[in-house]
Amino acid sequence: MSLHHDLLAKEARYGASNYKPLDVMLSRGEGVWVWDLDGRRYLDCLAAYSAVNQGHCHPRILAALTEQAARLTLTSRAFHNDQLGPFYEELCTLTRSTRVLPMNSGAEAVESALKVARKWAYQVKGIPPGQAEIIVCDGNFHGRTLSVISFSTDEASRHEFGPFTPGFRIVPYGDADALAAAITSNTAAFLAEPIQGEAGVIIPPPGYLARARALCTEHDVLLILDEIQTGLGRTGTLLAEEHDGIEADLTLIGKALSGGFYPVSAVLSHEAAMGVLKPGEHGSTFGGNPLACAVSRMALRVLVEEGMIGNSAAMGRRLQDGLAAIQTGQVREVRGRGLMIAVELDPAAGGARRYCERLRELGVLCKETHTHTIRVAPPLVIDAGTVDWAVDQFATVLGER
Ligand SMILES: *Cc1c(COP(=O)(O)O)cnc(C)c1O
Repeated sequence: MSLHHDLLAKEARYGASNYKPLDVMLSRGEGVWVWDLDGRRYLDCLAAYSAVNQGHCHPRILAALTEQAARLTLTSRAFHNDQLGPFYEELCTLTRSTRVLPMNSGAEAVESALKVARKWAYQVKGIPPGQAEIIVCDGNFHGRTLSVISFSTDEASRHEFGPFTPGFRIVPYGDADALAAAITSNTAAFLAEPIQGEAGVIIPPPGYLARARALCTEHDVLLILDEIQTGLGRTGTLLAEEHDGIEADLTLIGKALSGGFYPVSAVLSHEAAMGVLKPGEHGSTFGGNPLACAVSRMALRVLVEEGMIGNSAAMGRRLQDGLAAIQTGQVREVRGRGLMIAVELDPAAGGARRYCERLRELGVLCKETHTHTIRVAPPLVIDAGTVDWAVDQFATVLGER
């Protein structure tokens, strides 16, 4: 049996079967490229769902990781560590935030923001005890924990996982009138993704987020933007909220915050909201650990110093234009912002999965989202030649140019 099949068999024999990966076994990565066991090279057009925006195994982040790992990795928050203060300062300066709450996974950042919003609702807004409501959007993806899936509208994410956490109201995404109608005197917060990633790169209508911001301000409701996927350069700006000229009250980041080396997430606050947390009320053993802080500090530095955000905007335009120019009847729409792109196939094309499998044979790794959408989101360090090569592979799979 080949090593490839031996490893597949081990996963199948011992693992929970909660994923259905493409048939490729990766063992090495560098920049936009990953290699399988046989040394075949692939262009990574998923970038670990935007966790490796900085490219695989970025040498400066790797150096920061190994240097810090040899010095001090974890103290818990029972003691101070010398990386936390600089991490806070650098992150706040870069994102123009005033306070940071460090966590680990993205879902934990979402949970933390929901807790902060509820406490703020009772302490500051004066909502009666136990009555706080949080408005969320149809088609949302905010992670996999029990409270977070309590307001998912994806049946597979919820089925047989109840009973669920109450206190959430769901409105259609992109519909500011529906949001306005759902706000009551008990509304604590509105939680949304600036672009819905897992739902298939759904871009809301122009003006939607600005209107949501205005409604939240008018009704004293916290605007929570989940930028775990859209943030840190993915859409061609540091945060996606910049496209709409707004600032959230609470911003959630994760994924690329560590450049893919380590799970690091954070809740950023632009308002006094974070001030409601007092010692003992919330925490995490690993949150804010020195290894995470050192890795994140370098992940943010390379993003800015190496021009990755501007490159995302430029290469994103080039890739979108290239994909849109492919002459084919299989594609209904190419949409995106920066390097967060989706190719929406015609339903008659027979589903995105088989195109992802054909692309893999040509050396391009993509993942379908829902049935008819191919998500295209390479690391932000991709260059023009590689973009053009990727477009050629898509053209081969989808039809002639
Ligand atoms: C990935 C993601 C999450 C969850 O992050 P995890 O690290 O997987 O818990 C939350 N929100 C959005 C928008 C995401 O893309």
